[in-house]
Amino acid sequence: MERKYFDYSATTPVDSEVLNEMLPYFNNDFGNPSSVYSYGRDSKKAIENARYKIAKLINADAREIFFTGGGTESDNWAIKGIAIALKNKGNHIITSSIEHHAVLHSCKYLEKHGFRVTYLPVDKYGLISLEDLKSEINDRTILITIMFANNEIGTIQPIKEIGKIAKENNIYFHTDGVQAIGNTVIDVKDMNIDLLSISAHKIYGPKGIGALYIKKGIKIDPIIHGGAQERKKRAGTENVPGIVGFGKAAEIAYNNLDKNIQDLTNLRDKLIKGIFDNIDYVILNGHPHNRLPGNVNISFQFIEGEALLLSLDMVGICGSSGSACTSGTLDPSHVLLAIGLSHEIAHGSLRLSIGKYTKEEDIDYLLQELPKIIKRLRNMSPLYEKVKGGE
Ligand SMILES: *Cc1c(COP(=O)(O)O)cnc(C)c1O
Repeated sequence: MERKYFDYSATTPVDSEVLNEMLPYFNNDFGNPSSVYSYGRDSKKAIENARYKIAKLINADAREIFFTGGGTESDNWAIKGIAIALKNKGNHIITSSIEHHAVLHSCKYLEKHGFRVTYLPVDKYGLISLEDLKSEINDRTILITIMFANNEIGTIQPIKEIGKIAKENNIYFHTDGVQAIGNTVIDVKDMNIDLLSISAHKIYGPKGIGALYIKKGIKIDPIIHGGAQERKKRAGTENVPGIVGFGKAAEIAYNNLDKNIQDLTNLRDKLIKGIFDNIDYVILNGHPHNRLPGNVNISFQFIEGEALLLSLDMVGICGSSGSACTSGTLDPSHVLLAIGLSHEIAHGSLRLSIGKYTKEEDIDYLLQELPKIIKRLRNMSPLYEKVKGGE
């Protein structure tokens, strides 16, 4: 059975062009970029070339890009690095209640060490309120960290407006752009972004490599100490093949951005329409149009998400559920609860995320299988029987 992949928000396959660029750096060009002989110099050049391509994708200067071990490290660095660097100025951080755990758990950690964190609520679409944000700022606030686009429900925040508020109040603005990059326009200058986290494996690059954009002049401490790599800001021998792959992935994303957004939006809207046309008692989670072009998140009433995922898996469809079972708990996702879903509805949620290799026939296949599965599962639900019986 052919596998139909609907989980591009979790990770993406490495583009074969990306892989081909990476391969020589595992053996032929294996030199340490810090060495003086030519092997090392070639690696160094390859790194700088990648840095330039990544900077171009977000309208930054190459010197403002610092490589990390992925999106998680970038988030940790931005938040802890700013907190430590500015601890004499203030101890207050503002974030949102729907951030990725890399941000939320970094904030929780800082709370144990004397920092105060405000978690802004979101409305039913997953948007923060700019008025709330303004009213929470005080003279001890040192950082605003609000994600660009949510990984579960796809909602895109008003980033430019948040950047403006941060700038007017002289507060640093970090945004987790891991889901946004390659899927929407990111312009760090126009949007007043001071720090931006990005990762390669969500844009057809390899896993375990990411970057933090740090605007020139920003005060931030390193959190990984050691050698003088990355202009003394992030120690450790560079992941040269990973960096080269990230650079190539960024270049491809840049060259295809408009087409990618258009193609994904068309497929996504077909998918949403198909689900609403064929299945009753469904709710679309996230913003109706301010959302990632590849994200669909639907709650199916009278359905248990894990059972749905297993049934989909049996017909070769890979999706993701709204409950955080990966974390070993049965609690529904903090994001779905934050947009106001009940535990019950949140448990019946399905995230389907599409990407550049998704074909129209994949959507057709999903739309053929999903209604059958929902019908079968609901037929086992006494609650559903009762509701249907009452119609
Ligand atoms: C995937 C993801 C991360 C983590 O990135 P890794 O490179 O997997 O560590 C952080 N934030 C968001 C929004 C993500 O989707």
